[in-house]
Amino acid sequence: MERILESWLLHANRRPKILIADDQPTTIRVLHELFSAQCDVFMATSGAQALKVCQAELPDLILLDVVMDDIDGHEVCRQLKADPATSTIPIIFITAQNQEADEVVALGLGAVDFITKPINSVIVRARVGTQLTVKLQGDLLRASALLDGLTGVGNRRKFDDDLLTNWRQCLREKNPISLVLLDIDYFKRYNDHYGHQRGDACLKRVAKALSETLRRPYDSVARYGGEEFACILPRTGLEGALGMAETMLANIRELEIEHKGSDIDRVITASLGVATLTPTTGSGPEALLAAADIQLYQAKRSGRGRVCPKL
Ligand code: GH3
Ligand code: MG
Ligand code: MG
Repeated sequence: MERILESWLLHANRRPKILIADDQPTTIRVLHELFSAQCDVFMATSGAQALKVCQAELPDLILLDVVMDDIDGHEVCRQLKADPATSTIPIIFITAQNQEADEVVALGLGAVDFITKPINSVIVRARVGTQLTVKLQGDLLRASALLDGLTGVGNRRKFDDDLLTNWRQCLREKNPISLVLLDIDYFKRYNDHYGHQRGDACLKRVAKALSETLRRPYDSVARYGGEEFACILPRTGLEGALGMAETMLANIRELEIEHKGSDIDRVITASLGVATLTPTTGSGPEALLAAADIQLYQAKRSGRGRVCPKL
C-alpha cells in the first residue's frame, strides 16, 4: 500500500479516497483500520447514504456490502454505473463466504472484485491496492485524452466539454459567462523565419502565460486550434472579461519573444475577441462562440495586437 500511495501522491497529487459501505459497524471498523493510514476513508452504513457520499466525494474505490437494509449493494451498484459521474468508480463487493449467486449477479453489474467476510487483511489490502492502481492509470489516461500534447493546456475536446458544462452551470445560476478567443499575430511568418521548433516553443510559452493569467479555479484555457487559444470565464461579466483579456495580451507581450516578421511590433503579439452572454433556456454556447469569433475577426481587421471590443 505504501508504494501505491506514493504513486497517487506523485501522479494525482492526493491520497486515494475509499468509501466503505456496510451496515455492520464492526466490518467498517476493521476496514477503516486497514486503510486509514494511506487513504482518505469515507463510511456509510446504508445504501442511501452510500449513494449520497458517492455523489459528494466521488471516491476512487468502493467497498460495498451486498446485504443492507434499505437499498442493497446490487442496487447501489446499478445506480452508480448508470450515472456517468460515478460510472468509472470501481466497486469491490463484500460478501459472506460461499455466496456464488451473489457474485455472479455482482460481476454482471460491473463489480471488479470480491472480498469475503470474515475479512482477511492481507488479501483485502492486496486486492484494494490492485484496484487503486488500475483506477489511477484510468484517471491519468482519461485526463491525457483531454490535454493538448504540445502545450499541456486543455485540447479542443476539453474546451467543448468545459464550455457546455459551464454554460449549463451559469444558466442554473443566472450568471453571465465570458469567452476570450486569442490568435497569435503573423504566426505563419514566425514559423517561416525562425523554424517550426521555435514556433512550437513559442506556443508553449504563450499557453503557460495564459494559464498563469487565470486566477479563479473554474476559469480554463484550451488550445482551440493551431495558434489559437480559448479561455472560458464563467460568472464573469464583459468588463471583467475585457480586463482579463488585456492582461493576457500584456503578459504575452512581456514574454518578449522576438518576432522580426511582424508588421506591428518587434515581439510576439496576439489578437483577442471577447464575448459575454447570460445563458437562457433553449440556447446553447454556439452563440457565445460565434460572438467571440466576430470580435476576434474585428481585432485582426482593425490592426492586430489588441482586444475587441475596446474596454
Ligand atoms: P494572423 O495574424 O492573421 O493570425 O496571421 P497568421 O500567420 O498567424 O495566421 P495563419 O492562420 O495564416 O497561420 C497560422 C500559422 O500557425 C500556420 C502554421 O504554420 C502555424 N501553426 C499552427 N499550428 C502550429 C503548431 O502546432 N506548431 C507551429 N510551430 N506552428 C503552428
Ligand atoms: Mg489562426
Ligand atoms: Mg494567427
